[in-house]
Amino acid sequence: MAEATTSTQVARGAFTCPACGRTGDYVLVRVARAGTEIGTYVECRECFCTFPRSVLWRAADGPLRANHLEACLRTMVLMMIVDEVVLDAEIDRITEVYPQVGGRDLTRDEVLAEVDRAREDAQALEPFLQGMAGRLNGQGKLAVIRSAYAIATADGVLHESERALLGALATALDIENPLDRARQTRQ
Ligand SMILES: [Zn+2]
Repeated sequence: MAEATTSTQVARGAFTCPACGRTGDYVLVRVARAGTEIGTYVECRECFCTFPRSVLWRAADGPLRANHLEACLRTMVLMMIVDEVVLDAEIDRITEVYPQVGGRDLTRDEVLAEVDRAREDAQALEPFLQGMAGRLNGQGKLAVIRSAYAIATADGVLHESERALLGALATALDIENPLDRARQTRQ
């Protein structure tokens, strides 16, 4: 059992959130696992999206994307290309799920561009999510599991191997009972 992560608020202030567009409070949060810092994020106290710290000095209307959207899209793409086959139905599923977790509408070409980036990065899903664990709050982690669940069940069945994968992803992100939580929040 991995040691749980701890989140500590280290600063607060006001900013304009690129996700919800509101000007309000943010908190800067430091995430540690077993006493070692694994990441920091800025959390909007209006919509609870998280961002890299650079959100505080970038133009608020810049192209900065919330951390969980980056994590959700990469997770779905990595699950899609694990068998080296990219099916139209899988791309459709990704473009359907992404707005459900708060993203804007994606084109097929944008999904394919992410496939290219994922292949270039050559980082497997579990290490990727271990890295994201320090950049996401509970809401963001849950969005990642929801995305993974939606891709895993695209054929209407949750196979044993997929159940095991979701468990492994939850462990990488340090969250408990991912399947119960994904089901509770299905739309
Ligand atoms: Zn916000």
